[in-house]
Amino acid sequence: MPFFRRRLDQGLDLFQRHAVLGMTLVLLLSLSGLTWSLQQIFTQQLQNAALKNAQLYTATLSEFRSLYTSEVVARARQYGMTITHDYQTTAQAIPLPATLSMLLGNRLTQQGSGASTRLYSPYPFPWRAQEGGLRDSFGEQAWQALQADPKQPFYRFERLDDQLVLRYATADLMREACVDCHNSHPESPRRGWRVGDLRGILEVKQPLDSAGLSARPLLIETAVVTLSILALFSTLLALVIGRLHRAREEAQCLSQEMGLINRALEREVVERHQAEQTLRTVNETLLQLTNRDPLTQIANRRCFEDSLALEWKRAQRLGSSIGLIMVDIDHFKAYNDHYGHQAGDRCLQRVAALLQSMAQRSTDLVARYGGEEFVIVLPNTPVEAALALAEAMRKGVEALQLEHAASPTSAWVTLSLGAASLIPGADSTPEQLLQIADRALYRAKAGGRNRCEAGAAE
Ligand code: GH3
Ligand code: MG
Ligand code: MG
Repeated sequence: MPFFRRRLDQGLDLFQRHAVLGMTLVLLLSLSGLTWSLQQIFTQQLQNAALKNAQLYTATLSEFRSLYTSEVVARARQYGMTITHDYQTTAQAIPLPATLSMLLGNRLTQQGSGASTRLYSPYPFPWRAQEGGLRDSFGEQAWQALQADPKQPFYRFERLDDQLVLRYATADLMREACVDCHNSHPESPRRGWRVGDLRGILEVKQPLDSAGLSARPLLIETAVVTLSILALFSTLLALVIGRLHRAREEAQCLSQEMGLINRALEREVVERHQAEQTLRTVNETLLQLTNRDPLTQIANRRCFEDSLALEWKRAQRLGSSIGLIMVDIDHFKAYNDHYGHQAGDRCLQRVAALLQSMAQRSTDLVARYGGEEFVIVLPNTPVEAALALAEAMRKGVEALQLEHAASPTSAWVTLSLGAASLIPGADSTPEQLLQIADRALYRAKAGGRNRCEAGAAE
């Protein structure tokens, strides 16, 4: 299997095994992100609302104080009334604007608005030494910030007593109506005040959690709905992936089975091919064994007889002639006796090969008739042509100059040949042709051997 295909399969396996887990993790992360950003939005909204509330609170107190100073304190003074923090125990006295502002703040706090106020400075009058002063780092930082820029409120969100709280500080500046008193009062903690100096800090504490609680059920509801969708989605995903996984396994099994069947079929085809090849070889061998003469490798007697019968019928049908030559080696017994049987075999092979080479038409057949005798079937050949071929064969063997010391006829191996030809009649037989050729051969022998004779039908 190629490298990339294998990698792809491994990746797919991994995905199928861990897809549900992976998708669930992704969804969980998304849910957490969503919840976190919702929380952020809610917090931001709450902070904005708290800031607005504190600003309003501060503005209300400040306006009330200005109004009190201008409309009440100024007139009271005209009528000789005393303006003091200690107004409850002093005759014909009303509270200082700061005192009244603090009272109003306390009252509002008690009524449960959620917010609380405090007016303080690093220079408290002795009677306020207990509750006044910059008590913590927020107070100190606010004092510094407001001194640098009294117009800019200073605020931050803090966790106080396990409650998220906005601490909002604004500058309480020395007013014209107050400066003389502050500079001349025997118990004033500081002298040399000027109008516009930072006298104190008005701090509003606005808790956020009371408002935040109302947002929580919505968050919980959102989380529950999202979790339910997540669970449903994961279940569906698991089902789909499970089905896909099973389908893939089945496909793999099927393809393995197909592979096995294919291989078996391929083996069968190869085996069948081999069997056919073997059968063909065996058939060819059988045909050779049936039709070939094993010593000379030319056609044998059986092949000759079949071929003659076939050509006979054809010639009968066409009315054409069939020529035939009978060949016999002269004094071959003497050859064997003189040179030995094996030399005799080699001589037979040489003669057979030569005869075969001289019968050139594809329809001609050279066969071993038996012993040292050969026969040549020549379809469509008249006796003259058969005799001419016989003579050429005789000369051809003589020209081989195969030594034959025991022959009374020649120093070389020679042939005697009888040629014949017939146009087969309706009731004639191949034996008749053979007989004619045989008789011609006999005459060649009787006539001194190493010669050809032609025979004719009687
Ligand atoms: P002729 O000239 O009258 O034909 O005399 P001849 O000796 O050739 O004839 P004969 O029929 O007397 O002898 C034929 C000899 O051929 C006898 C046999 O030993 C020999 N012969 C037949 N077949 C084979 C064979 O396959 N191999 C060998 N080496 N000799 C064979
Ligand atoms: Mg013979
Ligand atoms: Mg012979």
